[in-house]
Amino acid sequence: MRKLLLSVLLGIFSLGAHADGFITRLLNHPVPGGVAVVGLPQQTEAPRAQYDGKPVLIIREDGERWIAIVGIDLKTPPGAQQLQLGNGQQITFQVRGKDYEQQHITLRNKSQVNPAPAQLARIQRELDEQLAAYARFSPRQPSNLMLDHPVPGRLSSAFGLRRFFNGEERNPHSGLDFAAAAGTPIKAPAAGEVILTGNYFFNGNTVFVDHGQGLISMFCHLSRIDVKAGDEVARGGVLGAVGATGRATGPHLHWNVSLNGHRVDPAIFIGAFQP
Ligand code: ZN
Repeated sequence: MRKLLLSVLLGIFSLGAHADGFITRLLNHPVPGGVAVVGLPQQTEAPRAQYDGKPVLIIREDGERWIAIVGIDLKTPPGAQQLQLGNGQQITFQVRGKDYEQQHITLRNKSQVNPAPAQLARIQRELDEQLAAYARFSPRQPSNLMLDHPVPGRLSSAFGLRRFFNGEERNPHSGLDFAAAAGTPIKAPAAGEVILTGNYFFNGNTVFVDHGQGLISMFCHLSRIDVKAGDEVARGGVLGAVGATGRATGPHLHWNVSLNGHRVDPAIFIGAFQP
């Protein structure tokens, strides 16, 4: 047992001893709503690991060491978290604190601040459908982990903003917004399978793409959807066009990135993380 523990510890320390690879340097931002890159034991076969009872993304970085890429829920308090390995071992990693800013939005359509009771059943059904899509775990390896911008244009609202609609606090911003003109084509930031499309109360016309191993993108408020569930899309393949459908104050792209069932900051995956 002591030898096992020691080898796990050495596995962790080897993160520091080796020069970290590109993916580790890009993605390792272990904050609430961020990503932890955790070194795994050296072995021939891919190790298996779970976090929060869900399988996590595992790759072999630079062809030499196994790493787990773990999505951290925005509600996670700073402190120690555990990764469970398939062989029964645990690896501890630390989550740092992060303060997110506030955003105040005025909506003239009051029914989108406090939806009418008649709409609640629809909203719940849509939420269940979307959570089921985020819960998927397919074995494919993501084609790329440095993701492409799905549209050109500046970043507008950041992930994690604490949002107040007409003064009432609602869920924090679960994705990253791009300012882009209506009709701008939205391109897949990595290859994947379209697993869900729909027209939703809050998100408007929406597309989900499964990039593999629990890495899932959602694109919202589209004016037009060009794909359907079951379609394979190449990296750069067009999914639809920017619009303002659903709860949107104007045309923009809202992009969510989910990892092992947790929404994480998409800015991390395009090299634009703000600590
Ligand atoms: Zn948004």
